[in-house]
Amino acid sequence: MAKLLGFLEYARELSADRPVAERIKDWAEFHTAMPLEEQRNQSARCMDCGTAFCQMGLFLGGVASGCPLNNFIPEWNELLYLGLDEKAYHRLIKTSPFPEFTSRVCPALCEGSCTLGLNDDAVTTKANEFTIIEKAFEEGWVKPRLPKTRTGKKVAVVGAGPSGLACAEILNQYGHSVTVFEKDDRPGGLLMYGIPNMKLDKSVIMRRIAVMEAEGIQFRTSVEVGKDISSASLKDEFDAVVLCIGAKKPRDLSAEGRLSKGIYFAVDFLAANTKSLLDSNLSDGKAISAKGKDVIVIGGGDTGTDCVGTSIRHGCNSVIQLEILPAPPVKRGASNPWPEWPKIQKTDYGQEESIELYGQDPRNYCLTTKKIDHDENGYVKSLHTVEVDWSSGSLKEIPGTEKEWPAQLVLIAMGFLGPEETIIKELALAQNSRSNIMADEDSYSTNVEGVFAAGDARRGQSLVVWAIKEGCSAAKACDAYLRAKTSVQ
Ligand SMILES: Cc1cc2nc3c(=O)[nH]c(=O)nc-3n(C[C@H](O)[C@H](O)[C@H](O)COP(=O)(O)OP(=O)(O)OC[C@H]3O[C@@H](n4cnc5c(N)ncnc54)[C@H](O)[C@@H]3O)c2cc1C
Ligand code: SF4
Repeated sequence: MAKLLGFLEYARELSADRPVAERIKDWAEFHTAMPLEEQRNQSARCMDCGTAFCQMGLFLGGVASGCPLNNFIPEWNELLYLGLDEKAYHRLIKTSPFPEFTSRVCPALCEGSCTLGLNDDAVTTKANEFTIIEKAFEEGWVKPRLPKTRTGKKVAVVGAGPSGLACAEILNQYGHSVTVFEKDDRPGGLLMYGIPNMKLDKSVIMRRIAVMEAEGIQFRTSVEVGKDISSASLKDEFDAVVLCIGAKKPRDLSAEGRLSKGIYFAVDFLAANTKSLLDSNLSDGKAISAKGKDVIVIGGGDTGTDCVGTSIRHGCNSVIQLEILPAPPVKRGASNPWPEWPKIQKTDYGQEESIELYGQDPRNYCLTTKKIDHDENGYVKSLHTVEVDWSSGSLKEIPGTEKEWPAQLVLIAMGFLGPEETIIKELALAQNSRSNIMADEDSYSTNVEGVFAAGDARRGQSLVVWAIKEGCSAAKACDAYLRAKTSVQ
């Protein structure tokens, strides 16, 4: 235990995010770091429980609870408290290849199952992780990890999102020569062209890519497998192929007027913004601008939140989020006890900003979109909704609750329907009922020999921490395959 009874001595504290009025004027990260000594006191709150649910990554009540990477949380909490920061870093990277990503964007499944959370506030595990990894970069402890020997085997990883990056990193450590193919112009997947800069600065991704390149991993960006190079030729050229292509096929809205101009999928809006920001500081006119517009985001989840934060930074006139489901409870329900992940309402950064600027939470629950109106030039001008009732267990529209909302920009953030199909068709890969690539959780192997799948492409749209976990596990399975097939030692 870091400090006997430290949890009684110190209350949970997080460093304050940058003030809303300041942060909406730029695209820099909104979270700030706590002074190191104060963060050490936070790690002293860890009780080093006999059964550390925080690091278990168990499925309880149908939802993952605890860290999917099985990070050695109590151990690095103790090392951070003791000031043994370099040791804490080495303990952290035993299980987690990219703590700089998770400590910024993970919902902290660990904290939902922290034992202290039973009758007090959970340990600030995510912030402790952030302190350890950022100190490690500052001090130059993050060094390329080179394999002692090369196996002579070549592996192609398709997709440079968190699952592809994790897979490439681990395969390279096993001594295989890895080439990562990415159709976007920059690596990172949704870390780069999904999650906005204010949540994860893109220099953080490129800092990691530089380390991976120094380790010998090759990145071939702006290469779409199935278009610029065939999947078959990849199979011929490499000893194994791991598909980490994500699940970015968006769920569409079926409502009259859907084809009006000014309606976009959320990821297209977010990706165009980041690309324009990185290419030209938004001066090339290629972002889809929300400036001066009434924006409606259809979808109350995290992707919707990112659309709210981005629209606010553009200087929108107003922004609302429409959600078809009822609002989650503010406190854990009796059917959702600790250590299950708490299914409660969060007010995230986009909503905080909207509340401060416009005086109200942008989220409106139990609403479905009926129709979209456009002007004489075909541009969206308003959206019609009706309230829905879920009390019978299924959706029922409530007559007389129709409402018209002004809108000049509509963003669809209604979830995803699985991976794009080009490679799946080319290789005749089996898919599951949700159209994800079929590959079991132990072997990560598809129905085609030597072809593996991991991340969102296999499990469906999920979380960065799960993508990293899947990438690492698929690398292990792929390595076992290569070793079984040949005399690789
Ligand atoms: C807007 C948004 C915000 C999110 N925010 C969070 C968050 O805050 N925290 C969190 O934990 N999770 C978040 N998620 C979910 C998380 O980003 C994903 O679960 C995660 O990125 C999945 O990783 P992946 O590597 O499996 O796929 P992806 O990140 O989707 O990467 C797949 C990559 O494969 C490439 N690719 C696809 N087909 C080909 C091809 N044929 N040839 C070459 N390359 C190809 C794609 O271009 C892409 O770069 C968010 C998702 C979205 C959409
Ligand atoms: S990766 Fe996520 S769940 Fe795991 S320790 Fe970090 S914040 Fe917690």
